[in-house]
Amino acid sequence: MQAYCLKCRAKREMKNVRSITMKNGRPAIQGVCSVCGTKMYKIGKKIEKKGARAVGAPTKAVSKSWLANVPEDKVFGCHDGRAMKNLEELSAGLQQMSEETFRYHVTSDKNDFSKWIKDVIGDYELSTELQNFSTKDQAAKVVADRSAWLKGGD
Ligand SMILES: [Zn+2]
Repeated sequence: MQAYCLKCRAKREMKNVRSITMKNGRPAIQGVCSVCGTKMYKIGKKIEKKGARAVGAPTKAVSKSWLANVPEDKVFGCHDGRAMKNLEELSAGLQQMSEETFRYHVTSDKNDFSKWIKDVIGDYELSTELQNFSTKDQAAKVVADRSAWLKGGD
């Protein structure tokens, strides 16, 4: 798949292609330039190929499992005593927690929320995306958008 690379200022083959949902809720395809490695986007597109589904949009069953409650011993135990057992609770929890609590879990060395999503929920894409956001409002929004998207997933 080709996209315009802003760095090369030319159309380049995109690699590591995957479907993402942008902040405004619209689908897009993200990849990196095969020449210079810069991130590239194709907005308003989804990966249609069947073979790409595993790395792109999850199946309904997978979406459902990511939205489900985690086992009791795997709930996210927040520094402020809050316990969160699914993505929606995490999103609400992020919105409500103090900046101090957020900073306890997210430092330059670690991101407990991202780790929990990767290790317990299993949504690697969201886990990776979350690492790009360093404020709790942004993090809450990313998780909320993702769970809304997973719910309506096609
Ligand atoms: Zn490039």
